Amino acid sequence: MAFIEEKLQTKVYGEYDVVVVGSGPAGCGAAITAAREGLKTLIIERFNCLGGMWTTGFMNPFFDSVTKLGLVKELREELDSRSQWGGFQNISFNYEYMKRILEEKAVEAGVEILYNTTFCNTICEDKTVKGVICQNIEGRFAVLAKTVFDCSGDGAVAADAGCPFEIGEDGDWKECQAMTLMFLVGNIPEKYREVGLKLKEKIVSIYEKAGKDLPFDNPYLIPVPNSHFGVIQFTHVYEQNPLSAKELTEANIELRRQIIEGFELLREYDEEFKDLDLITSASILGVRESRRIIGDYTITEDDIFGGRKFEDAVARVRFNADLHTKSNKGQHVYKVVPYQVPLRAMLPKGYNGIIVAGRCISGERRPMASYRVTGNCCQMAENAAKALAKATRENIDIRDVKFTFDLIQK
Ligand SMILES: Cc1cc2nc3c(=O)[nH]c(=O)nc-3n(C[C@H](O)[C@H](O)[C@H](O)COP(=O)(O)OP(=O)(O)OC[C@H]3O[C@@H](n4cnc5c(N)ncnc54)[C@H](O)[C@@H]3O)c2cc1C
Repeated sequence: MAFIEEKLQTKVYGEYDVVVVGSGPAGCGAAITAAREGLKTLIIERFNCLGGMWTTGFMNPFFDSVTKLGLVKELREELDSRSQWGGFQNISFNYEYMKRILEEKAVEAGVEILYNTTFCNTICEDKTVKGVICQNIEGRFAVLAKTVFDCSGDGAVAADAGCPFEIGEDGDWKECQAMTLMFLVGNIPEKYREVGLKLKEKIVSIYEKAGKDLPFDNPYLIPVPNSHFGVIQFTHVYEQNPLSAKELTEANIELRRQIIEGFELLREYDEEFKDLDLITSASILGVRESRRIIGDYTITEDDIFGGRKFEDAVARVRFNADLHTKSNKGQHVYKVVPYQVPLRAMLPKGYNGIIVAGRCISGERRPMASYRVTGNCCQMAENAAKALAKATRENIDIRDVKFTFDLIQK
């Protein structure tokens, strides 16, 4: 590869206690909590709303949310009070209301938000993260922080700092779970508007009749509560590198092809769906699996199948390990015994000034396929921010925090 040299003088936008990169369930959990705890907090997001897969990704339902306290409970109750909660599996929500409620909570807590701002590089000296370089309409700039929360989903901040990571099976990214582009459909037949529909039987027989190659055999129609529209979780691509811009682009193109094909076949071959409308595809590609940053502790299969508890627990996970693997074009589900996520799995090994939260924390593959769902990402980030606030108040390192407070519902 050829290189050019750039001469850069980068302006400093500001100094913060906490900078959060990425505003998915993890980023929102971290930023809202850090600000509520009195830490000066900035969140940056490359799109124009909070929520990540919750909102830009058109994801539903809100898994591992029903028994959780804290911010997850607040979101459930807030959505419910506005009649925007329920529907599919009784844990689904309206994307636009979720965006608004997250913004209300962030603004009320005092979080500074910068949308349309992309993280570019990590400022790191001697394995201590000191801030991030970002880019937006004002150009390139630095933000300095005592702690950076890497909530990018992909562990982008940690990786740029040099933190080691794992990917796929023994480093083979081809084993990463399938990517999916969610799409919204309208005019859902009345009988499915609340409960949704497992589309398996219909889609398998439609693709057989049409003589087309089926991308995934376990799709769902997931309606948004109290509406005529919803999302279809159907498209799948396999063996695309989640760390290659070129392959992510190719994945998007293939998935949009699958959307049009699937939608047209559904309308043509199924009388019930003849009036279905295609509204739009999500602006964010659904990447289930990419980097798993290596932390002080790595969550193992023994932990999740043995219901392990930890002294530094920040989340309690009930969701089974759910892998969308290429081998069967469907899902492999492995039943877990409810277990906990330790804070140490969020602290990159050997590095200071950085906490990773969300799907990119330290875990083996099957554990990741379980704690990756949104209730857990939000809860672990919320409680890690509480631990950080406690460390700040006591003027100690986050690794020395004594968990004398009850962070989670046991
Ligand atoms: C197709 C699909 C379906 C799923 N279905 C469900 C489901 O039904 N229920 C469920 O609970 N979970 C589901 N999941 C899992 C869940 O959505 C994710 O694991 C979860 O959202 C991860 O949360 P996160 O905060 O780590 O990352 P994300 O939700 O991915 O958020 C990351 C955020 O960081 C931002 N970002 C990334 N890079 C940069 C950058 N360089 N600069 C600025 N911002 C950046 C992104 O724009 C995004 O907003 C699904 C996942 C996929 C892919």
